[in-house]
Parts: sequence; C-alpha cells; structure tokens
Amino acid sequence: METQTILIKNSIIVDEDVRRGSVLIEDDKIVDITRKGSTGADEVINAEGKVLIPGLVNTHTHISMSLMRGLADDLPLETWLNDHIWPMESNLEAEHCYVGALLSALEMIKSGTTTCNDMYFFMDEVAQAIDESGIRGLLCHGMLDLFDSDKRKKEYKETLRIIKKCHNTADGRVQVALGPHTPYTCSPELLNWVRKKADKNGLKIHIHVSETEKEVEDSLNDRKKRPFEYLEDLNFLGPDVIAAHSVWLSGAEIALITDNNVKISHNPLSNMKLASGISPVSDMIANGVCVSLGTDGVASNNNLDLFQEMKTSSLLQKVRTLDPTVLPASKVLEMATINGATALGLEQEIGTIEVGKKADLVLIDMKSPHLTPYRNPISHLAYSAEGKDVDTVLCDGKILMLEKEVLALDEVEVMEMAENAAIDLLSRN
Ligand SMILES: [Zn+2]
Repeated sequence: METQTILIKNSIIVDEDVRRGSVLIEDDKIVDITRKGSTGADEVINAEGKVLIPGLVNTHTHISMSLMRGLADDLPLETWLNDHIWPMESNLEAEHCYVGALLSALEMIKSGTTTCNDMYFFMDEVAQAIDESGIRGLLCHGMLDLFDSDKRKKEYKETLRIIKKCHNTADGRVQVALGPHTPYTCSPELLNWVRKKADKNGLKIHIHVSETEKEVEDSLNDRKKRPFEYLEDLNFLGPDVIAAHSVWLSGAEIALITDNNVKISHNPLSNMKLASGISPVSDMIANGVCVSLGTDGVASNNNLDLFQEMKTSSLLQKVRTLDPTVLPASKVLEMATINGATALGLEQEIGTIEVGKKADLVLIDMKSPHLTPYRNPISHLAYSAEGKDVDTVLCDGKILMLEKEVLALDEVEVMEMAENAAIDLLSRN
C-alpha cells in the first residue's frame, strides 16, 4: 500500500507546552514537526488561526447509554439505577448498543475526543461502532455476578468471548479490558478471577469504586473496611486498575491508590448531577496519582463534551479547597490528554504531539467571540472553549472530521437511527 501523507500547516501546537509549527503525518504516525510549513504532502490542512491539541481521552464511558439521554434526570443514584436505568437495560439488545455507541462516537468526534474507555454490554457491537467511526476504544464487558455463581460463570464466558473476538482489532484501535462493575456488585471470587486474568494476559481493569457515601457506609457495615481497603486485602489493586469516580476516600485510601499506582478517572459532572460528592482530586494529584477525566454515561451527564469536564474539574477543586490556585488550566488539559493516555497504557502512542506517536489530533477554531481576544490558548482551552469549537479531527492518521464536516460517519443517518432505536427501547418498557 502506498504511503499517505497529511500536513497540518501553521498551527499553534498545544500539549505540554505551546509552540507554532506544522505537523507532518505519514499513514498513522506523526513523522515531523517543523516551524516551517513548506513540506509537500498528499493533503494539506491549513491550520492558521487554529490550535492543535492531542485527541482527548475520555477514561470512563458507557457510550451505548446515549439512547437514554434525558430519560431519568434529577434522581439519587440508587433510585436512578434501580427504578430507571436497570429496568431499561434489561430490555437492551445488541442493535440498541450498536446504535447508541455509534451516536456517541459521532458526538465524541464532534467534540474532539478520539479515545474512550468504555464499560457496558454487547461490547462486540460497541467494537463494531468504534471500528466504523474511526476512533479508539478500550472496551470491557461490565461484569456483575451479584454473588451468584451461575451469573458469575456467564460473566466469565462473555468476557472471554469479547477478548477473543475484539482485542487488538480495527488496526489496534480496539482493545479489550476486564470490567468488574463495582466491589459491591461483584463477589470476591469474581474480583480474584479478574486479577489473575489481568496478570496473566496483561489486560487493564476498569471498575467503579467509591462513587457514593452510601457505598462506603455499606462496605464498612458489611466488611468493616472501606472499598479501597477491601480491594487491597484482595490484592486487587495495581497500576493496571482504572478506578472510576473515587469520590469518597480516606487519607489511608489515597495512600493505597498512590502506593499501588492505581489510575483514577474523575467524572465531575456525573458526580455533581447525581449529587454523589466531590472527589479529593487535588489531594491525589499532590500525591502524584495519575488522575484523568471521564464523562460517565450520558444518562448521568448528559453529554460527552470533555471541555465541560476540564472546566468543571478545575472549578470544583477550587470550591472544595477554597483555593483558586489548585488544578490550573494546564493541569486539566494534561488530565484530558496524556493522563488519560497513561491510564489506558497508551502513553507511548497517544496523549501528546510528538514525532513517532500516532496522529490522534484535534484542531480548534479560535475565531469566535467567546475565544476573543485570543492570547493564551491554554486558558481558552480549559475555561472558554466548548466541544463545538472543534474544527478538524484525526485519529490514527485518518481525517474523521474536516472543517466541521464529519467524514467518518453519516451524521444525519446516525441521528435518525438513534431516534428510532430509542423509540424501540422505550416501547419495551
Ligand atoms: Zn459509570
């Protein structure tokens, strides 16, 4: 196959620092970054007046849940799950998950996210949607045995099926992780199985931990241990664990997270909407913990715009600590890019704009009233920009959106499919 080259010309490049330059892409990789823009290429993207950032990484999603957008708002987590989400999920079929994932992929492309870390069901359908949309995903089947051995066997079987069918597919854009849902919906047997499997096969583990205060209270009542202490006793914690939420943490638990190099996915908007609480993110960061950003499913957010998570995470820590200097703009940008890549084990491939890395790149159009005057791009990205300012998106060297036109998917068709799938899902209730 012949080499394809793309030149992104004259952009302001922002990752760990800010510099002017042109980025040359050969097939899936960045091969040159120069101050001049004269190098010839098959395709030239003029990036004058635009800012180039690494594709954003969303480290906690349930992308098929986009079909449930706006259907159950303003409820506590338990009522929300027991009376609304779980009954709807019991009616889910493969096609719903495929269409929901496709809709989310479209939304992520349009708001600059090129990688997601997704836990749900029918993950081969989700993998199909990720493949077709051109983005990247670390996917896991959400395992819940509710301490029942028959359910447990089914969860093992489904997890093994997804690994076999989907791991390292779509030119490596789709990878599979292990997905025990929570320490309170999974038995110790299941958690031990996951730990062994992760060690043996080098797979990541994606789990929800300490999302609500009630979860911690129940854990203390049932086991006399807080959730992270319980997981440590099972020898479950390690650098391959991506723990979503982690809102209610003791100092001892932050030490366990730090010592085990557990990766945290902070989901500020979901935690605020469900009134779960405020994660002590700046304390963890001060301890050197890798904290990245997630949206959670849109049923509790209600969108996948990581620009909103960047701004909210910073403001929320300022309010929590009454210190306006915590979580500055550059830090939240790092959380949405390189920290996300590190959490997923992809820090050698994505998360910064460097020669040799994959071309997962996003251009943001700075010519808008809310981005004017344009002086400090890092400040604008963290505090003023919105997902809809995203202009052009590349993933794995392929142009998925060019000057706000999505090339990877038929936008109108995907939205129509999603409306129909949502009508079908609701008619089953
Ligand atoms: Zn979640």
